[in-house]
Parts: sequence; structure tokens; C-alpha cells
Amino acid sequence: MQTRVPITLLVDDSCPLIHVFRFHWEEVHKRPPYTDDGRLLLDIIPNEFLDRFCDVVETRGIAGKFSIVPAPAGRGDIVSGIEDYHPDVTREWLETVKRRLSNRFDFCPEGITHNLAVNLDTGEYFDEGESGWSQKQDRTILTPYLTKSLEYLKAVGIDATGVTSPWVFGIDVEDEYIASIVAAQKAVYGRNFSWYFLHMLHDKPESKPWLAFQEGDTTLVAIPSTVDDFWWRTIDSPRTDEEFIDSIADLIITKDGRGGKMREVLDAGGWPILLTHWQSLFSAGLETGLAVLDEVGKRVNESLAEEVEWQTCSEIARLTLTKFLY
Ligand SMILES: [Zn+2]
Repeated sequence: MQTRVPITLLVDDSCPLIHVFRFHWEEVHKRPPYTDDGRLLLDIIPNEFLDRFCDVVETRGIAGKFSIVPAPAGRGDIVSGIEDYHPDVTREWLETVKRRLSNRFDFCPEGITHNLAVNLDTGEYFDEGESGWSQKQDRTILTPYLTKSLEYLKAVGIDATGVTSPWVFGIDVEDEYIASIVAAQKAVYGRNFSWYFLHMLHDKPESKPWLAFQEGDTTLVAIPSTVDDFWWRTIDSPRTDEEFIDSIADLIITKDGRGGKMREVLDAGGWPILLTHWQSLFSAGLETGLAVLDEVGKRVNESLAEEVEWQTCSEIARLTLTKFLY
């Protein structure tokens, strides 16, 4: 029987090379993207950053899910390669993901571009972001869209066990969205058990995942985040000193395990489901967020080892299905 509370790390917006937040920023503001303190955001997140992320999660035993945006910002895709780069660079990134993360991370698409929605009939882009566009669609449109996103991952040998919603994709038409996830997983992977991440319930610390859909032998589990992306603030600060890193880690979990958002969630009886983003860990090239993750992983191992246990999203979904009690 499960006696420790499951915790998991949701990594959003990851993909080869493209810094999707930077391109999204430019798309929205129509000018070059800067951090709040005036540094230009970098176009590219190099493959070496993925290596360093893998080092941290392996060392600390962290588990969760890792998004792969299939055609990030519409600049090439994971099958044919990212624009302006040799396809080998994309391939190498994917091989590292498979080799080093498969054991303790689930993989999933997160939209197709994580930017403008794609017109699947013409291959052109709609003049609207994927999230805004999705809110006006039904399952006849959303199912092929999700199918396409899963097919990209399948084509490069990635088993996508779930789906992540770019921003709040599908939230206004959630029943249609849920039916589409179920249908797309069945069509692409022949899968009838899956999970999705859409809801950010940072003001409801008592939250746990729930069964969003169950019919016959088909199940879809909703996994909400309960711990906000405190890593994000490293994007807008030039600081990389230990005091700064500790101050952000403290917001997540203090050294003694008695404070921070994870503690609030545990005390409320919820499951600490930590949300972060690839750009929050990259921190405009300073990688301060990754140092915070390393510190959080260390604190979990030192102060919460008796109380919590890192799990993948699939493991958490299975626990939810079996209605585990502790
Ligand atoms: Zn995202």
C-alpha cells in the first residue's frame, strides 16, 4: 500500500532548440522580447542544457512529465528538424530525452506549435494562438488536432502517455477536449488509459488528480498542478547567487521541510504537483532555475523523504484510478 504522498514535476514548453516563450512573447508584443530587467531573451536553448537538466533529475531522483512541443513556434518540427539547424541536432536532443528521461518521466505533446494554431487542411497558420482558437472548437476539429500532435511524437519513437494543454487549451469546451484526447490516444497509440494536464489549482492546495472520463475500460485522469511555477521569476533577474537561489527554493519548500507551497499542499491533504517551464529552468541563459530545481530536489530528499515520493504522471494516474487511500 502507498503510504507516502506522491509528488511530481510537470515540465512545460520543452522542445529541441526553440525557446518557445521567446517567440510567443514576440508574437504577442510585436517587438523583440526582453526580460523585465532589460536583457534580450535568447532564441535558442542549446542541447547541453538538456544534458544538465538530466544530470539534476537523475541525481535527485525527480520524476514527472516532460512536454515535447512537436513543431515549436512553427520553425521546423521534431521529425524533419528545426529550421536553420542540421536535423542531427534535433535528433540528438530526442535521443538524449529517450535515453536519460524515459525511466522516470512521461512524455506528451503540448499543442503543435505552442504558438499560432495550424489549419490542418492547408498547413497554413490561423491568426490566433492555439489556446484561444481551441475554445471555439468541438471534437470534430480537436480530435484531428490532437491526433496530429501525437503522431509527431510517435514518428520519432516517443511513447506519449498523455497530453499537456498549451496555456488553457480547451478549458471552455472541456467535455469536447476530453473526448478528443481519449479518441486521439486510441487512434495513435491504441491506448485506453491516459492523463492530461490543464488545470492550475494553485489556490486549492487540497487538490488531487481526478478521473475526468471513465467509460467501459477507457479512462482519462486529470492531473492538476498545485504548486505554482516559482522558477519563472529567475527569467527576470540577473542574480545567480546562493541567497537568491535559496529564496526561490524557500517558496517551494524550506530547508527544514516546514514551509513553502509544498508544505501548504501537504498540510491541506493535497498532492504537491509542481509546475515549471523549460524557460523557467533556463532563466534567459543563466540556468538559475535549474539550480533552484537542484536545491528543491535536495531538500525533498533531506527533509521530506519519509513523507513524499516522486512519481511519474502515469504512476499518479494509476494511483488515482485505484482510488488509493492513505
Ligand atoms: Zn506551455
